[in-house]
This record gives sequence, C-alpha cells and structure tokens, in this order.
Amino acid sequence: MKQNKNSNMKFVVILTLLAVAILAAVVVFSNKEETLPTDTKKIDITGQPSLGDQDAPVTIVEFGDFKCPACKAWGEMIYPKLVTDYIETGTVQFSFVNVLFHGDESTLGSIAAESVLERSPSIYWDFHHALYDAQPAENHDAEWITPERILEIASDFPEIDQTLLKEDMDQQATMEKVKLDEDLVREVGVAMTPTIVINGKMMEDPFDYEAIKSAIEQAKKDKD
Ligand code: CA
Repeated sequence: MKQNKNSNMKFVVILTLLAVAILAAVVVFSNKEETLPTDTKKIDITGQPSLGDQDAPVTIVEFGDFKCPACKAWGEMIYPKLVTDYIETGTVQFSFVNVLFHGDESTLGSIAAESVLERSPSIYWDFHHALYDAQPAENHDAEWITPERILEIASDFPEIDQTLLKEDMDQQATMEKVKLDEDLVREVGVAMTPTIVINGKMMEDPFDYEAIKSAIEQAKKDKD
C-alpha cells in the first residue's frame, strides 16, 4: 500500500515537472515569436483566393472571419478603397485567409467558401462578400452561419451547384484547406480579425487607411 502511494507520488511529481517543462517551452517559444520583426514574415499565398495582378509589386493578405463584425465593417469601409486605388491599378495583389476565432460557424463558413473557390473560382469573391452581407447587423453572436443559410445565399449564384456545395459542407470536404489557413494564422501570429499584412508587415490598425496607403507606397519603393 505504502509502495503504491510512493509510486503515485512519484508519478505526480513527474507529471508536474513535465507540465512545468512544457509551460517553459511554450513561454520560450512564444517569446521567440514575439521578438521576430513583423516585417520579415513572408506569407505563402499558394492556393488562397487572390484578386489583382499576380505580378503586382505589393501583396496584401487579409486574415478574416465571416462571423466577425469588424471584418464585415472592414470589407465595407476599407476594402472598396483598396480595390479602386491599388488593386485595379495593378499595384496590389490581394488575398484572403480564413480565421476561425468564432468556432463552428467560422469553420462552416470557411468550408463553404473554400468549396466555392474550388468549384466555381470565378465567383468566389462575390460569394465571399455575399456571406459577409448576410451577417446580421445586430446580435451577430446568435447563430446565423448554418448549412441552410449558406445554401440560401448560394442560390443567388447560378454558377454554384447546390448539391455539391451541400455535400462539401456535410462531408467537410475542404477541411484540409481550412486547416492550411489555421496553420498560416498560427505561423503569422494573427491575434485579431481582421489582420492586414502588407508585404509581410502587419498593420497595427487595419482601419487606418492613411497608414495602409503609406505602407503600400513604402513596400512599392522597397521593391523598386
Ligand atoms: Ca484559404
């Protein structure tokens, strides 16, 4: 009995030591992440939806979440200016990466968007904006991203095969793509949505359009 108690005790001590070691490793690791200068992070946008000239000198990546009200606001306030001033003029190539900070609904929205990107790439951005448009202005925490609602939104697009989209959602067919986005989120150290990264430089305030403009001009100059 005593022997047993002793070995139990030993087990507890080992477990505690192990937990402390893991914690220490996590602290060291996250400190290391934090000391990395934000402007040296290169983001691999392979397989991500992209808008604008592939050879544009400046790359902007938005990390966003369909369930996030600030992302919807960013899409309405900042994004249209970017399109007119920099994307359509060939200065910026714009990409979007899914973030799942709001749980299952974020995941479902991302799975559906990745499915549309795979099957009907030409209307990806229209579907993307339609999803954000469907986000309720009030009480956005209440559940609204459901398979039924997504199919309803998709029904506005004749290009989308409803049966295949439903299948993709049921079977989480594009989960691998969503996981790839999650890896990027972790790698880049995205802590809020939307996060805007301009040629590897993370913007402090995604709603400061003047700062975004300066960052684009600077990135363009650095390339020249
Ligand atoms: Ca993606």
